[in-house]
Amino acid sequence: MITVITFNPSIDRLYKLETFKIGTVQRANFVNPTAGGKGLNVAKVIKQLGESPICLGFLGGYNGLYIKNELDKVEIVNNFTEINGESRICLNIIDGDKNSTEILEKGPRINEDDILDFESKLDKVLESSKVLVASGSLSQGMPVDYYKTVGEMCNRKGVKFILDTSGRSLEMSISENLYLIKPNIEELELLTHKKINNKEDAINASKFLLEKGVKNICISMGKDGMIFLNKEHIYDVKIPKIEVLNTVGSGDSSIAGFAYGVLNDYSLKDCLKLANSCGMSNALYMETGYINKKDIALFLNEIKINEY
Ligand code: ADP
Repeated sequence: MITVITFNPSIDRLYKLETFKIGTVQRANFVNPTAGGKGLNVAKVIKQLGESPICLGFLGGYNGLYIKNELDKVEIVNNFTEINGESRICLNIIDGDKNSTEILEKGPRINEDDILDFESKLDKVLESSKVLVASGSLSQGMPVDYYKTVGEMCNRKGVKFILDTSGRSLEMSISENLYLIKPNIEELELLTHKKINNKEDAINASKFLLEKGVKNICISMGKDGMIFLNKEHIYDVKIPKIEVLNTVGSGDSSIAGFAYGVLNDYSLKDCLKLANSCGMSNALYMETGYINKKDIALFLNEIKINEY
């Protein structure tokens, strides 16, 4: 089984406006609330690939109930820790189909009892998990190195830990308990404190992460595909050009593809092909965390992987 952690899920509301004018009253012509958060996108894509993930994390208040209900509707198994605060709402205002302005709430504050409850749930589900994916930011009130604790719990149970986060919480969690991380160039620059101008820079900057024990690194590069590194290989994953509609959630979809491959004992190259196919398919649709199996079948044949 794949377990997916989302500490700070949200209701994502999309408002489409002809033109976005600050300081005026405006009427939105399209509102589409969805259950969001990077981990939930990962879980949705794993589900579409045909596996049943289980979601953990924190949910609270009416917003939390809404998110849980949305997951139940698509039959995604979930066992969130109920908290006293209210889960957050994030707004995305699309201005004339072009510019996107996002307003992201910080989300509720978590206390020690919430963390203890989460850990007892996690401990149980790790018994039957092969892979754990944790995506997105920590909640307010959690220790900044909390993903390190999650890594230690995975290590004790022999579970492969895939972590997709950024900033200090990624930096503080680097250890030999990380099976895979997937920084993009911007995140890698933050993590390595180096300016990255090309693939060589990216590879050189990432090598110290392998020395610190990280087993596998995918550097996602949007339309330029991915660079992969572990102690044995450096791969350049080349993808075909596509007509993109919305790349939000492509990184999450690629994590889902990789996790699915690991669960099903795919070869490393096949995991990378599925990861990129999922990221590409997601980019073809407006809906975040939606993939289409026909696209995937096509892309799997077109992606080329070469030793760098
Ligand atoms: P992140 O969210 O980590 O920044 P990316 O935007 O790099 O992730 O997207 C993850 C994957 O999705 C890429 O490695 C690629 O396979 C696919 N993808 C993303 N953007 C595009 C694009 N513009 N054209 C083709 N594929 C894309």
